[in-house]
Amino acid sequence: CGIVGYIGQDDTKEILLNGLEKLEYRGYDSAGIATLNENGVEVTKVKGRIASLREAVDQSVKATHGIGHTRWATHGAPSEENAHPHQSTSGRFTIVHNGVIENYVDVRDEYLSGVEFKSETDTEIIVQLMEVLNNEMNDVAAAFRKAVELLTGSYAIAMIDRENPDTIFVAKNKSPLLVGIGDDFNVVASDSMAALHVTDQFLELEDKETVIVRRDGVEIQKPDGTKVEREPFTAELDT
Ligand code: GLU
Repeated sequence: CGIVGYIGQDDTKEILLNGLEKLEYRGYDSAGIATLNENGVEVTKVKGRIASLREAVDQSVKATHGIGHTRWATHGAPSEENAHPHQSTSGRFTIVHNGVIENYVDVRDEYLSGVEFKSETDTEIIVQLMEVLNNEMNDVAAAFRKAVELLTGSYAIAMIDRENPDTIFVAKNKSPLLVGIGDDFNVVASDSMAALHVTDQFLELEDKETVIVRRDGVEIQKPDGTKVEREPFTAELDT
């Protein structure tokens, strides 16, 4: 299972599909991508092979911002509905997640009693929680930090916000995730292999950090919102 994300100038669908193909070795049962352009968010997901996802993706509609996922199901059977990306009820937030949210039942019962779920995944809890918290707080970065603070378990998360077309929101705890640094673009990947076709510069993330990834910069934050400065390392193909 794996995650890839891209925000920049180039054709995102191809970069995401290419990245997911590089993550195939990790094993998966379904896959999907979400891209954002001036017409909104477009989600394509399939049960089965990346090759089927590639066939299902409409390459004629271009985007320069998106996230992709290969799923190894832990909560909910492998199916198109349970494949990622998952969206909040309004469609504003779209998320991909690797790992297991251990307290998803508690979070659902405490914060999400009125929500109608579209999947059986623990992951949908995160994106629905994000929408509820943002409606209360009206500050996406703060709501994102609060959402991940409420989660226990393992997660690598990449999220896009329809109302913030210049940002990918990223978080990790006990699941691998790197941010790749480019010139006028940035990427997110479970494994540098998934992004070496676009950059060899990567930032390591610590557990419980969140990252705001934009075309022209990256901001790492501690759970309390303070910024962290970190130098990238150079990834090599054969390591
Ligand atoms: N727990 C999530 C699910 O079952 C994510 C699984 C994964 O890491 O791919 O959908």
